[in-house]
Amino acid sequence: MNTRTLKATSYTQVLQIETERAPQFVDITDEVEEAIRASGVQNGLVLIYSRHTTAAIRINENEPLLLHDLEEFLRRVAPPDLDYRHNDFSIRTTNMTEDECPNGHAHCQHLLMGASEAVPIIAGKAQLGRWQRIFLVELDRPRAREVIIQIVGE
Ligand code: ZN
Repeated sequence: MNTRTLKATSYTQVLQIETERAPQFVDITDEVEEAIRASGVQNGLVLIYSRHTTAAIRINENEPLLLHDLEEFLRRVAPPDLDYRHNDFSIRTTNMTEDECPNGHAHCQHLLMGASEAVPIIAGKAQLGRWQRIFLVELDRPRAREVIIQIVGE
């Protein structure tokens, strides 16, 4: 067990992303790697976190035909044209906003994906495998999104 005292630092950056459609896989790997460089952290963790219930963070391969397959997979898992109680504005009273859009399918898709990924940093580099890229996954519609990149380590 390593008991020496860490001189831990943390570094936080917020990415503002305008998405264009849904589903959409937005590759943010370059931005994450730039944040790691800016942090100066050599060994630690980077957390990539979406502040949304209908935009997920996932690691997968950036191959255009695969991304098409993944988009179709999401549509099959929770089709946008099914009935969702969340979309029934005649009975729903909670968390309603003036520009509320029917997006029950996007929440269901998000449940399977999640809001964050964490990647180890060793020798100043995110330890992504050869084909691993980090994506913000838009599930709802074109929207302004915020992704927090938080790096902790030494
Ligand atoms: Zn909703």
